[in-house]
Amino acid sequence: MKLAGRATRIGESATLRVSRKAKELAARGVEVLDLSAGEPDFGSPPVAVEAARRALLEGMTRYTANAGIPELRAALAERYRVDYGAPWHPGQVVVTVGGKAALLELALALIDEGDEVVLPTPAWVTLPEQIRLAGGRPVPVPAEAADHFRLRADPILEAIGPSTVGVLVNSPCNPTGGILGAEDLRRIVERCAESGIWFVADETYERFVFDGVRHASAAALAAEFPDTVILVGSFSKTYAMTGWRVGYAIGPPQVITAVSNIQSHATSNATSFAMAGALEALRSASADVEAMLAEFEVRREIVVRGLATIPGVQCEPPAGAFYAFPRVADHYREGRHGSVELCEYLLETAHLAVVPGAAFGNDEHIRLSFACSRQTLEAALDRLAAALGG
Ligand code: PLP
Repeated sequence: MKLAGRATRIGESATLRVSRKAKELAARGVEVLDLSAGEPDFGSPPVAVEAARRALLEGMTRYTANAGIPELRAALAERYRVDYGAPWHPGQVVVTVGGKAALLELALALIDEGDEVVLPTPAWVTLPEQIRLAGGRPVPVPAEAADHFRLRADPILEAIGPSTVGVLVNSPCNPTGGILGAEDLRRIVERCAESGIWFVADETYERFVFDGVRHASAAALAAEFPDTVILVGSFSKTYAMTGWRVGYAIGPPQVITAVSNIQSHATSNATSFAMAGALEALRSASADVEAMLAEFEVRREIVVRGLATIPGVQCEPPAGAFYAFPRVADHYREGRHGSVELCEYLLETAHLAVVPGAAFGNDEHIRLSFACSRQTLEAALDRLAAALGG
């Protein structure tokens, strides 16, 4: 049987592959320490769980409006108005099956065959694959480890060419934790507006920025650049609601209509009662989010300090998200040359699951998630030190 070209151009998500291998080992009774998943270890906010339970009991079990329940669309528009002065109305919000679906539907709505999309790297594995799935070509713009992987306007602007249809920036960034500052964000959006191309901000990790720094949201520029700014958000990480599958896209009406039309032929609405839970999380779970941020900040210290004690490993403290992205290339040798082989070695010999940097576009690094308990983290650092020491 012949597969379509687009299916052969992409592979299984590297992060999901590592998680799958780790689970296979665990199923055989091996005690694996899994730092591969991009998934908070906290429970979902009790208010969200209760709201979803109530919704189910009250019979909220049917299709909803394709673009999401009106209350959630209105609450999201209101949230960005209050926090950032964004002029978006509820009709400019589409609720999707996680942020992942929002990004894929946007790619399908905005990218034609051969179009170029400027994408800072290292980048979350799914972003370039989705661009390719839509027929486009990701144009990588490397961020520098020595610069804390900060996302800078200059190299992004230099990468914009005649075939560029848009710029896609994920800040805080998975896997590096690098962030885009307000000034750089403004310069990029201004140029996108001048050039008549779009700017998509993937703000999935918006609430996890450390050291008291305020997240620079593209929503703050929506009033000035209403035809340019498109924002993607998610309940997955912010509220520890990964399995609920609720995300959203907000932007110019014609873009959101296109996304909604695509969704109407793909998934239809996000799950009805999950949206009821998400609405309640948005309304009244901010204390849960603050508690998670405080805990992530402590874990970041543990992981950065632990990595600093391992000779030949370099790690800048991530500015946001919940990943460390240390450079480990000094440990490459026969049999573990490159990040993929090193991660296989760590999984097989130390039973430690981490993700190869190659999956994100940088083969000198590996990604460790600190969305796991302090105890797991400390044990994992011990195993890493022992495995690399040998
Ligand atoms: N964007 C980034 C950068 C991510 O890391 C993820 C998940 O790992 C997502 C978007 C999508 O998450 P979800 O589909 O669970 O909302």
